Amino acid sequence: LCTISCYFCEHYCSGAENTCKEDKNKYSRDVNEWTSNLKNEIKRALEQYAPCKKENCSCHRSVIDSDLAPYQDGITNEMFISARAKGTKYQVIDGKLYREENCHFPARCAGVEHYMKSLNLKKLSNMEVSINTRDWPQVNKLWGQKKAPVLSFSKTQDYYDIMYPAWSFWEGGPAIALYPTGIGRWDEHRKSISLAAKKSPWDKKKAKAFFRGSRTNEERDALILLSRSKPDLVDAQYTKNQAWKSDADTLHAPAASEVSFEDHCKYKYLFNYRGVAASFRFKHLFLCKSLVFHVGDEWLEFFYPSLKPWVHYIPISPKASKDEIQQVIEFFKAEDALAKEIADRGFQHIWENLDDYDVKCYWQILLKKYSKLIKYKVVKDKDLIEI
Ligand code: UDP
Repeated sequence: LCTISCYFCEHYCSGAENTCKEDKNKYSRDVNEWTSNLKNEIKRALEQYAPCKKENCSCHRSVIDSDLAPYQDGITNEMFISARAKGTKYQVIDGKLYREENCHFPARCAGVEHYMKSLNLKKLSNMEVSINTRDWPQVNKLWGQKKAPVLSFSKTQDYYDIMYPAWSFWEGGPAIALYPTGIGRWDEHRKSISLAAKKSPWDKKKAKAFFRGSRTNEERDALILLSRSKPDLVDAQYTKNQAWKSDADTLHAPAASEVSFEDHCKYKYLFNYRGVAASFRFKHLFLCKSLVFHVGDEWLEFFYPSLKPWVHYIPISPKASKDEIQQVIEFFKAEDALAKEIADRGFQHIWENLDDYDVKCYWQILLKKYSKLIKYKVVKDKDLIEI
């Protein structure tokens, strides 16, 4: 009994001797209760779920409203001056796009501008906006910072930042050996990863959990350690990133080789973790038609709220221990049809509601609603260059 993984092992088994401390019946009763609670939770989530209708990126529009809610009384010049110091200044004047000459991350600005230039800028009244291309958001409510309308790609509810679709939908994502010019071109990844999913249909996938990535966040350690103790159940290894100095940065093991998004599709269970902010990994995982385990729910990108826990992915607490993670993976190994159903629904949602059209549509509505909140007269800044 004690050799099988269990949420309750700590209470029922003494690790060293691997012997049971308490009676098997109580253990089975608790496991059964845990299983039935989980099934009920999934059932409830499905009952409450209504798929969103794809009409003018309606699946994501509520995020614009909620991010702009703190600015409903209007964006003043004073607020913009404060935002401007935290990002790159852009203006739309008479339907033309302008940017300050210096951009801290040129590839990221290029990724942003690809979408901005594709919009119907003539439909926007003259406006200016500060776009933060750093990884982390800028205006924290809890630190007492004053509202400043900075656009950032990712945030938690603790920030006043307004989310925009990350540059990496087009270019400027992290450069790793496999993607030396940086992760981008979501339109191409959609095609190549979904093709890889066709080559690895559910029944051909390995019934293993999989993760490859660097140690941008220690929350990832529990899965890496589980992989080391249960290699038949989990293949999770740390790769190097630019900050790597020694094996200590890969949790005292040599760095693993990188694995392409397409090759992730060979596994049934794929893990996503936050990094510095949200990880660009998340959206790609769904394209494999594998079951996505998403750890933590605080760090968001604009499309995260449209994805529902238990309906499209399996939520995991960032505090989950190795044993708890193992328990959940084993539950879905046993409930294979249910796992496939959630995996398929996750794929369908991302496939239908996160394409290039949705990204452009989100940008257009975001800038339109933002521009309507500006309370001061926007004057063309001569120091900016036309893009
Ligand atoms: N990545 C990948 N294969 C690997 C390692 C990383 O495709 O073997 C991708 C990963 O999905 C993410 C990016 O590279 O989109 C950076 O991953 P990392 O774990 O280093 O940082 P994160 O951005 O997730 O914090």
